[in-house]
Amino acid sequence: MSDFKTPPPLPPVTGPGSPQDVPPLPGSLPIDPATLPDAIREELEAPDPVAIDTAAAELSDGLNRCPKCGSTDIRHKLGTDLLVCLYCRNEWDGARVEELFGFGEGIDQLKGTVIASGARDIAADAAVLMTFKCTGCGAEVTVNTESAMTARCHWCRHVFGVNEQVANGAVPDAVLPFHIKKDDAVARIRQFVDKRRLFALKEFKEQFTPENVVGVYLPYMIVDGNASADVAGKGEIKTREYTRGTDNNKKTYYDADVYQLQRHVDFTVDDLPLESSTERGNLDVRVNTNNIINTILPFDTKNAVKWNASYLSGFTSEKRNSNVEHLHPRLEDQLLSIARAQVQASVRRYDRGVRWEQEKLDVHGTRWVSMYLPVWLYSYHQPGAKGGMLHYIAVNGRTGETMGSVPVQQWKLLLAALTVGTILETIAIAILAGSS
Ligand SMILES: [Zn+2]
Ligand SMILES: [Zn+2]
Repeated sequence: MSDFKTPPPLPPVTGPGSPQDVPPLPGSLPIDPATLPDAIREELEAPDPVAIDTAAAELSDGLNRCPKCGSTDIRHKLGTDLLVCLYCRNEWDGARVEELFGFGEGIDQLKGTVIASGARDIAADAAVLMTFKCTGCGAEVTVNTESAMTARCHWCRHVFGVNEQVANGAVPDAVLPFHIKKDDAVARIRQFVDKRRLFALKEFKEQFTPENVVGVYLPYMIVDGNASADVAGKGEIKTREYTRGTDNNKKTYYDADVYQLQRHVDFTVDDLPLESSTERGNLDVRVNTNNIINTILPFDTKNAVKWNASYLSGFTSEKRNSNVEHLHPRLEDQLLSIARAQVQASVRRYDRGVRWEQEKLDVHGTRWVSMYLPVWLYSYHQPGAKGGMLHYIAVNGRTGETMGSVPVQQWKLLLAALTVGTILETIAIAILAGSS
């Protein structure tokens, strides 16, 4: 029923794992593969790995219908992973992608780069506006995917959602629905600020309205991988400790044996989250404090459900704008620090410390799934030089973990520091006076 809507066409998909990377047709190659050495022929004739297709073809007309009554008035039932029909109150569960697409399996067998269809590269020319032709009344309904993923037809009240995996980064493979309700988030933010009230900026306290908190789905890539690392360096073990000299000229000496060390680790990672919005990935902490999000991790990504725009009604979302390739360096950084931590346990006996001089990481295989994670965000703009500073308080939409930054009254902090110093000084003077 492609005539009912005019979404932008899917971009040409290239690269490993793409559905279009198929072996050449027999006879289309200038040489006959049968004449090639076995190894080369096998590689040439082997089918390319197919990307994991998470697209919901049944929802591509933009209408998510209640399985019982057919109404399109579908909402996420807050506090659960259920969808509920506002017309007949029927409730149903989204399918967990972990089982549906086998995202938990075979991590130690991963080879190359496997990309789920919602995590494919973003096309520069992909449209942000999605237009649907309403099947109820024939009107055109437009959804601006910069800010919303659903829209209602003004005329017949059908609700449309963007469920097709348009290559503009707005439609992920999976979504982790909000469990923490707004009232709960407001209470947590209020408590967080109350604890810091003493030093908080006066204007901030006066304008503090946690009811303005916004529920946002933030874009992440969730990565599985298997890798090995080799590290080499020197470790020291203390053999003797002794003192030389007399009275004021005493010096302690240490003797140690130095060992050349080498370690190899094979390891896997399961559901490593990487921020996939560059605005949040390249943080400038001088003008904003939104690296806060990393402090409210982790999320129970294993419970994420298959994408369905109905989960987003009532919330805002931020589009992904980083591709797998852009995120590779950050993945490698994280894998290397995991490898170092794993090696650490095996070098404890080098009590004088270990100095790694060489590190090598081999990433054998990775699997990438794009996902929306739920965060309640309260923001405050502190006026000041160079546009001031943005402060955020964030609440993890699954666990309620709350973290943030509150603008402080600098003079109060300074005064507090001075007061503590003055008290210590007074005590010191009192002790001196007593001993003389
Ligand atoms: Zn219904
Ligand atoms: Zn309509």
